[in-house]
Amino acid sequence: MCVVVRVAGAAEQDVAWDAREVAVVVRAGMPTEEALAGVRAVLSDLGSVARGPGLWCFCGEPVSWPVPLGRSGLCAVAAPATP
Ligand SMILES: [Zn+2]
Repeated sequence: MCVVVRVAGAAEQDVAWDAREVAVVVRAGMPTEEALAGVRAVLSDLGSVARGPGLWCFCGEPVSWPVPLGRSGLCAVAAPATP
């Protein structure tokens, strides 16, 4: 079962790992960059290895990003670094 990123309006923490739901729960209204950094940290703790820009499950599949968290920020962060 792959990790999902979920937005919760009443989350206690900004970013939290929910093992039961295999989900990274992000509080609604978080700035995109902060949410992304938090989710990345959780995925890294889970053993995720980045295979390119974006977010990756520990199994190697891409993790989708919920639209309410902002799309442009992810694209900016996920853009490959220019040499
Ligand atoms: Zn997976």
